[in-house]
Amino acid sequence: MPKVINFNAGPAILPREVLQQAQSELLDFNGTGMSVLEISHRSKDFEAVIQEAEALAKRLYGVPEGYRVLFLQGGASLQFSMVPMNLLPPDGCADYILTGSWSQKAYDEAVKAGTAHVAASTKDDNFSRIPKMDEIRLCDKPAYVHITSNNTIYGTQWNPLPTFGDVPIVGDFSSDVFSRPVDIRPYALIYAGLQKNAGPAGATLVIIREDVLEAAPKSLPTMLRYAIHAKNNSLYNTPPVFSIYVSLLVMRRLETLGGLSAVAKANKAKAAVIYDVIDESEGFYKGHAEKDSRSLMNITFRLPDEELEKRFLTEAKEHGFVGLPGHRSVGGVRASVYNAMPIEGCTALADFMRAFRASVA
Ligand SMILES: *Cc1c(COP(=O)(O)O)cnc(C)c1O
Repeated sequence: MPKVINFNAGPAILPREVLQQAQSELLDFNGTGMSVLEISHRSKDFEAVIQEAEALAKRLYGVPEGYRVLFLQGGASLQFSMVPMNLLPPDGCADYILTGSWSQKAYDEAVKAGTAHVAASTKDDNFSRIPKMDEIRLCDKPAYVHITSNNTIYGTQWNPLPTFGDVPIVGDFSSDVFSRPVDIRPYALIYAGLQKNAGPAGATLVIIREDVLEAAPKSLPTMLRYAIHAKNNSLYNTPPVFSIYVSLLVMRRLETLGGLSAVAKANKAKAAVIYDVIDESEGFYKGHAEKDSRSLMNITFRLPDEELEKRFLTEAKEHGFVGLPGHRSVGGVRASVYNAMPIEGCTALADFMRAFRASVA
């Protein structure tokens, strides 16, 4: 194991072998004698990168015919605006299910673009759970329902992912993209900033159904139109080349590992190692998320008091566990155990948690 075990929430851990390959190819990419950072995004060498990245994203998710895969900029946060600007007609409404700060931000942007409606919210429970299906009230003929697949800050996750009959879904998959198989067919659009679970910051993955590409009003600026990016195969302007390239290496590795079913199985086992310590601790470690809403990506928990939390985080740091302080809206501890976290990292943290509890008993 390396000296540092990286539990950062994002940007976050990347597979070591991916970093090593990026390093080894940095001065001479593909026999060009230059790095991938120094060649035209319209060269055949980079075109091969972006085409393979698209194809791999499609293969990993089993994306059916009739969808496009795009690599855009502006992060997931720009998607909060682009989605309603493109997909929400002036006489329509869009539903938002509020399960955390990110879905709240997505909703706030939708309100600026048109009629957005809160279909359900678990804010009153400090977003410690995913709403039950019978709590969700949709507006009349919604253009789409927006969900956040995994709530990075609170440590909750839709499992299973919901469907709403014929109503298309828009999903923010920023913090659990490529972490489990997803049936793409109910989605009009999926977006994910890739810096949490799939690569470096800079690129945002968008999977969009072709029939919604042309829905945008004529007045929309060029760079905000999905149709423009689709028509130009994500090369309308200079894309974030390095981020796309490293994400391609990450996706290749996921395929080698056996695809998303294998990845999901590993993620379940990894998270269980830490949740088991919480559950056996007789309330010493208290999970923020309700059990049936627990995230396999971000594990959030508190200790009996803030003094102990401080001590826990200080000692954890001394042991090389990095990135564990929880987000200020939850407090306590957050262990982000994305795809690239090896199970040994989870086991090491679990051992530390047991030892810490024993040391203060
Ligand atoms: C981090 C995060 C975002 C914001 O991503 P940016 O790429 O920084 O804009 C949005 N949604 C979720 C679920 C996130 O975890």
